[in-house]
Amino acid sequence: MRLSQYFLPVMRENPSEAQVASHRLMLRAGMIRQSSAGIYSWLPLGLRVLKRVERIVREEQDRAGAQEILMPTIQPAELWRESGRWEDYGKEMLRIRDRHDREMLYGPTNEEQVTEIVRASIKSYRDLPKNLYHIQWKFRDELRPRFGVMRGREFLMKDAYSFDLDQKGAKHSYNKMFFAYLRTFARMGLNAIPMRAETGPIGGDLSHEFIVLSETGESEVFCDPLWLETDILSSEVDYASDLEPLFRQWTALYAATDEKHDPATSPLPPDKLVTARGIEVGQTFYFGTKYSRPMGAFVTLADGESIPIEMGSYGIGVSRLVGALIEANHDEDGIIWPQSVAPFALGLIDLRPSDARCRALAEDLYGKLLAAGVEVLYDDREESPGAKFATMDLIGLPRQAIVGPRGAAAERVELKDRRTGARSELSLEAAIGQLALRP
Ligand code: ATP
Ligand code: MG
Repeated sequence: MRLSQYFLPVMRENPSEAQVASHRLMLRAGMIRQSSAGIYSWLPLGLRVLKRVERIVREEQDRAGAQEILMPTIQPAELWRESGRWEDYGKEMLRIRDRHDREMLYGPTNEEQVTEIVRASIKSYRDLPKNLYHIQWKFRDELRPRFGVMRGREFLMKDAYSFDLDQKGAKHSYNKMFFAYLRTFARMGLNAIPMRAETGPIGGDLSHEFIVLSETGESEVFCDPLWLETDILSSEVDYASDLEPLFRQWTALYAATDEKHDPATSPLPPDKLVTARGIEVGQTFYFGTKYSRPMGAFVTLADGESIPIEMGSYGIGVSRLVGALIEANHDEDGIIWPQSVAPFALGLIDLRPSDARCRALAEDLYGKLLAAGVEVLYDDREESPGAKFATMDLIGLPRQAIVGPRGAAAERVELKDRRTGARSELSLEAAIGQLALRP
């Protein structure tokens, strides 16, 4: 993509409404534009990152055996009357009436909707287990939408729902999502710590919040310092095996949110605990028959007995993750994308497009990189070098390739690593060789 043609409305000044780095940088880097409080449009650069995050989430859900569906954003009130949540859910729920005066709502979550789908077609124990998920926009009329996409009113969530015959099966489904979550966040370079949590309006008795430690997080959390050294990607997770031993191993280290933490029963004394703030990027719930029983989602066993389905639900804040990723990856110059979610792998800067040799070398490099399948954002504009460097650093592509008049004369290119700042000068061929290698 040529920057001269790209829609990238960067801002030089810090927007006054942004209180945290991620919000400020998303606005400055032209990733999003506010529509109204807590509601945003995603512009090209932001959308590319959102899609990257979504893809990793999807791959790990699929790997763990969940099946993707797509449910609507608008749901009928009747379903929520059946579960009792039409009354229980507070002002966060946006209630709507259609032209026939029928009550509807913009879904804040989908337990009722998915239970309706399953009860209509799953009748026998032989049809279980199942795990269905979707990645869909949600609306919650938050009291205080803030921090940009981190606490929006309209936000993108991945929500999965598991259906099992008995508690043992339901726990296995829970464990699969537990490890899928650890892998998902780790692939984005985030260490999200699973913490025992309260279940809130979803209900149930087993729940973990996956928390990324960050000063700007809204939750206060407590954990064993050993959590900071764990790496799930170095473990083999076999979803077909009994995951309970691995689950026990991964939950042996203490970690609890504010609501669950009790200094009296904590296994670690206060001076041995990490006390920090954190961002909730996902939550898993096991709630048994809370929805299946009142909504009549039953299956028949081999002996003819009819029993309510055991359920769990599993959410990931896909759009919140974009903010959380920036909170964890930025410096004073801007964003520093981890390779796995970067909107482009490389920023190519032509420092002097008016210089024929510079232009020819940059064009040559651009064409060859595209042919090699590298995603490049090519700054081919007539701008000062300072402005070009500032823009590239701000939008945070992991690597930069810089073509200047001096290098061009010798057919050499400078490569810069955005995170470390390390620079090297290479021949055109060597640069292409390095850049075309997938990380
Ligand atoms: P919170 O405690 O932050 O309000 P929640 O516990 O109400 O979130 P869940 O029902 O667990 O949210 O939703 C699943 C995930 O969706 C959360 O872990 C979070 O990452 C994301 N999420 C929830 N509310 C918002 C929001 N207002 N804006 C962006 N993401 C959100
Ligand atoms: Mg939650």
